[in-house]
Parts: sequence; C-alpha cells; structure tokens
Amino acid sequence: MKKIAIIGGGPAGLSSAIHLIKFDKNFLIHLFEKCRIGENIVCAEGFFDFFGNIHVELPEKMKVKKIIISSGKKTEINLPKNSNIFTFSRKRWQKDLGDYARSLGVKIFENTKIEKGEIKKLSSQYDYVLDCSGFSGVSHFVFPEKEVSKYRKSLVPAVQFRLKGDFSSFYEALYANVFDNPPGYFWIFPICEGKKPVYANAGLGILLKDKSKRNLKELLKEMLKEEISHYEIINYSASPIPTRRLKTFKVNNIILLGDSLGLCSPLHGGGIDSAYLSGYYVSKSIIANDFSIYRNFLKELDKRFFKERLFLKLWNFFGSRWVLERLRNKGLFSENVPHEPFSGRWLSNAIIRLFF
Ligand SMILES: Cc1cc2nc3c(=O)[nH]c(=O)nc-3n(C[C@H](O)[C@H](O)[C@H](O)COP(=O)(O)OP(=O)(O)OC[C@H]3O[C@@H](n4cnc5c(N)ncnc54)[C@H](O)[C@@H]3O)c2cc1C
Repeated sequence: MKKIAIIGGGPAGLSSAIHLIKFDKNFLIHLFEKCRIGENIVCAEGFFDFFGNIHVELPEKMKVKKIIISSGKKTEINLPKNSNIFTFSRKRWQKDLGDYARSLGVKIFENTKIEKGEIKKLSSQYDYVLDCSGFSGVSHFVFPEKEVSKYRKSLVPAVQFRLKGDFSSFYEALYANVFDNPPGYFWIFPICEGKKPVYANAGLGILLKDKSKRNLKELLKEMLKEEISHYEIINYSASPIPTRRLKTFKVNNIILLGDSLGLCSPLHGGGIDSAYLSGYYVSKSIIANDFSIYRNFLKELDKRFFKERLFLKLWNFFGSRWVLERLRNKGLFSENVPHEPFSGRWLSNAIIRLFF
C-alpha cells in the first residue's frame, strides 16, 4: 500500500487527495492543514478554466458573461457562450471537497502545521510528500537555491477587501480597472448568495515589481471610493502571488504543486485552476509512476504563461490605453472572436494584432 502525505488543504492539496484515492482506493492518504479546510483563503473567487477541462461543482456559482475593463475609457468584452469563467464561494467549495475527500477515505488533520524541520521525516515515512502549502513552500529548502530565490523575487503583492452590499450593477460581470507604471489592476468580482450578488471582492494587484513601495491598502481604499459607494467592509486581506515557477518540481519523493511551484498567471494572478489541475496530473503521474505526465502539463502551462508575460511586457511598454484601444480597433473584443478572451489562443492572436 502506497502512503502519501499532502501538506496544505487548498485547491492543489484537495484535488490531489481526491484524485489519488479515486484512482486507487488502497492508497493511504494523510492531508495536513495548518488551519481548517475552507479557512485561510485570500482570493477574489474568480474561476478561470482556460483549458476547459475542470468539471467541478462550484457552489453559489455565477457565470461571467462579460468583462468590463477600464483604462480611462471603459471596454465591455462579451464572452462567448461556452466560456468557462465563474465567480463562486471558494470557502464552501473547499469545505465540500474536504468532506468528499473524507468520505472517500482520506484522513485530514486540521490545525496541523508541518514545520520545515519535519519534511525529511515525512519524506522517509511516506512514499511521496506533496507540498501544496501555497506561496510559503514549506519544502522549498530542499529545492535548488537559485530557483527558489528567483521564485521569491517573482512574488507580487495583492490586497483585497471583502464587501457586503448590493452589487446588482456588476451581475454576471467582472470589472477591472487597469493601470500602468508598474502594470496592475483594481478588480471588483461580485459573489452571489442564491442569484443575488450581495458580496464583492474588491482588490488590487501589482503585476511587476513595484519599486515605489506604495501603501497598497491606502491605494485600494482610494480606488474603491472612486468606483463604488454604499458598501460595508467585512474584512481586509493581503497575500503575495507567485508569478514565475520553479523549474524543478520534484526532488527525491517531494513534489511541488500549485502556488508552491509558482503556477499563477503572470497576467491576472489567477491560480485556482492550475493548482487544481496540478493535483490531477501529479496523481496521474504517481499512479502511472511516470512524471512525464506532470511535466507535459507544466509545459502546456508554460506556453500560456510565456504569452501572458509577453502581453504584460507590451502592456508595460506601450501603456494599457494604447494596448486596449488597439485591440478594440482590431476587433479582438468583439463577440465573434473565435477564442475566449485572455485564453492562450486569444493571446497569440492579440500579440500579433498589436503589431499588424
Ligand atoms: C488577493 C488574491 C486574489 C486572488 N484571486 C484569485 C482569483 O480570483 N482566481 C484565481 O484563480 N486565483 C486567485 N488567486 C490565486 C489563488 O488564490 C492561488 O493561486 C490558489 O489558492 C493556489 O492554490 P494552492 O492550493 O496551491 O494554495 P493555497 O490555496 O494557498 O493553499 C495552501 C494551503 O496550505 C496551508 N498551509 C500552508 N502552510 C502549511 C503548513 N506548513 N502546514 C500545513 N498546511 C499549510 C494553508 O493554510 C492553505 O490552506 C488570488 C490570490 C490573491 C493573493
């Protein structure tokens, strides 16, 4: 019987636990979560399924039909009918996944923090140790120092308020106000209870290193005042987002997944989809004893992230106004474009159309 230790009960950890035990009921799976499942979440709760292959139940889900981008002038992007972008309750989703994992036989140890000093012991006691601990990467010290240092340097800051109020004017839409020097964006993602958007996550993320050391919380407050009124602030949270992955994903039997490997989008910071998928592909690799399966998935992701990084550089160089204007004029935001806006194929087209 194979024994697997999973550190962290976010999307990567829960997905690995569920897929492993579904693939082989004889696996002994222990998942260690430092808080409780469904807690310790800092997220705008937008689900971007750009590969179109994540078929999961999303509680309180709201299908996103359009993206409104503002850069002085507002651009409305109507998404194709088959688009896979949603907002949802991540807390409930993770709790449901945790319950489901338990029902399949996964043993979950909540309020159990794995310390750096315990990694070597876990590695000798279990066949595999899956590090799904998020950006803190509790096992990073066994990975090549140079790569970890690059990863750390690529962490970009994000801050967010959870708001309560009437966000009907944002129903079925995501709102992003993009800015330059360095590039970043302010977002409002409405979250439904039933069919009503009674909550919203309003946040601010900087996508490239900001040397000015601005106070992001104050900046967020200012932007919020300019954009909306009549809301109650429920909480404030802040967390870094990794935007460059470690090249090495496995050292001996220790494997990095999700944010701990650095699988967030460099363009918009989303990482739930890739964290969840990393759990699926690592599980497949363990079952087949063939890690080229995971490597190939990462290669696909690298291709999309490469285009995103290039797009971000063009945005940084030409400025968001010029980029948006040009793409609007070239028809990239029209309803008839063949690919979902901001997907890998759309980006290839967009990058070419910026020049020709
Ligand atoms: C402000 C903000 C907004 C975001 N919005 C979006 C969005 O709208 N859409 C999107 O797709 N992505 C978004 N992201 C990114 C997304 O949250 C992450 O990419 C995703 O959560 C990664 O999943 P994960 O399972 O790898 O890690 P995490 O979700 O971070 O889970 C890690 C888990 O490990 C636990 N843990 C950590 N250390 C230990 C330890 N030593 N021992 C035991 N347990 C441990 C933590 O408590 C946590 O539960 C956002 C990020 C930020 C900061």
